[in-house]
Amino acid sequence: MDELPAALYDDAACALLLVGPDGLIERANRAAHGWLGYAEGELAHHVRILDLLPVGARLFYHTHCQPLLVANGAVEEIQVDLCGRPGRLPVLINITRRRIGADTFDHWAIFKASDRQAYERELLLARQTAEAALEARRGAEAKLQKLYDQLSEADRHKDEFLATLSHELRNPLSPMRSALDVLKVKSEHGPDWPVLQVFDRQLRHLTRLVDDLMEVSRIAQGRMQLRREPVDLAALARATVHDVGATMAASRHTLHVNVPETPVIVNGDPTRLAQVLVNLLNNAAKYTPEGGKIDLDVACRDGHAEIRVCDNGIGIPPAALAGIFDMFSQLEPALTRSRGGLGIGLALARGIVELHDGTIAADSGGTGCGSAFTVRLPLAAGHAAPAPSVLPDLPRDLRVLVVDDNADAAAMLSQALALSGCAVAVAHSAEAACEAARAFRPTVALLDIGLPDMTGYDLARRLRAMPEGASALLIATTGWGQPKDRERALAAGFDHHLTKPIDLALLAGLLRQRQGPAA
Ligand code: ADP
Repeated sequence: MDELPAALYDDAACALLLVGPDGLIERANRAAHGWLGYAEGELAHHVRILDLLPVGARLFYHTHCQPLLVANGAVEEIQVDLCGRPGRLPVLINITRRRIGADTFDHWAIFKASDRQAYERELLLARQTAEAALEARRGAEAKLQKLYDQLSEADRHKDEFLATLSHELRNPLSPMRSALDVLKVKSEHGPDWPVLQVFDRQLRHLTRLVDDLMEVSRIAQGRMQLRREPVDLAALARATVHDVGATMAASRHTLHVNVPETPVIVNGDPTRLAQVLVNLLNNAAKYTPEGGKIDLDVACRDGHAEIRVCDNGIGIPPAALAGIFDMFSQLEPALTRSRGGLGIGLALARGIVELHDGTIAADSGGTGCGSAFTVRLPLAAGHAAPAPSVLPDLPRDLRVLVVDDNADAAAMLSQALALSGCAVAVAHSAEAACEAARAFRPTVALLDIGLPDMTGYDLARRLRAMPEGASALLIATTGWGQPKDRERALAAGFDHHLTKPIDLALLAGLLRQRQGPAA
């Protein structure tokens, strides 16, 4: 063996042994001596390979390694412990067999396995820890699910209890109300009158609370039914302002109302929507110190009707804003609360608004900075752009009488005409139209055909017979556009016939034909 391979052999990064045919170690490199705790030269010709193997490994060597070496001339990656002087050394062994003449020599390459075992132990540990964590998490999830089920069950029981409670409370209220009404009739303005009034006020209050409780449990159980119809939120807001006037006055609040003249139509339940608005206005009054300022705005924005109630009252801390619509959410603790209420008004409002496919949101600059509540509801189909258009280039001094029993339709058309510079009068029945014609002396009359008291055809005949309507331009506005409808209109004395919805450009064209007051 020349010098270079000898150096490579001696300095190899694994332990190398050459084992002769009789099992005696013939040669060993530096790593083999070092790892097994022998001094240089102590292994070769002195130690047999079996001396380095513990009993179990010897058996394995005879039963597995030897047959493989005979059959394949090699074995690979056998994991055993070697008996070194410092102690046992876990190793991986590869053996290749060389045949020289009749003799066989085995080359052993030995790699330390202690690091690998440590890694394996660590991996095992990590795996066991992960499995334990997974198991713990599964346990926690199961517990959570159980808790959730228990809570849902408790919530369902609570809803049922509230429904029963409010129902049971409602029952005695009705005979109490009747009895009180009888008493009031009997002793009107008698000595007991002030006492009866207190009783009356408190009974009303109690009834309202029980009603709210009943409705909120109806919403929670998905049992609230809406009676939907086209509702003008502008009109509803004006009526509600009237209803809450006494409450505002009692606290000397100033209520600014900004509601458009034109209708804001949504498809909703007027009673429920009024309830939402009353609740927001009452809350604004309740949570604003005396002499406060409250604003009510109704507007159309992005295809939605928007109702906004703002106050300059006690405000809402930012952290409380999100939960304020939850049932029984009240910011003041029960014992210090001086303003009454059950904490269900806003939950009820949200339930009603959401049943209308709308949203309700609260906003506040924080404690002492006032609050704003915004309700958004989809505008009813056909009312998405209620702002009236202007009719171009109309002659001056046109006096137009608009007759339609649909107040919204009449309001829209009269707005458009007024914005275009016409003098406009509106009537919702034929009788009112005749009266208006006498006083207003129209140059043009736009008549709906389906009026409550007589047909538009008969009204046209009546107007023609009156001196104030004889020369007016009469235009029928109707949903019927068949040729026979047109003929019938012209036969009744109409000059023109327009089909609803009215094409304003077409109307403008007709109006340009007529100018100045009637003779
Ligand atoms: P209630 O008024 O009966 O307590 P609500 O559901 O109407 O119940 O309101 C819930 C809570 O929201 C109130 O207790 C109050 O703390 C807060 N809140 C409602 N409206 C206002 C407002 N305009 N300003 C400040 N806080 C308000």
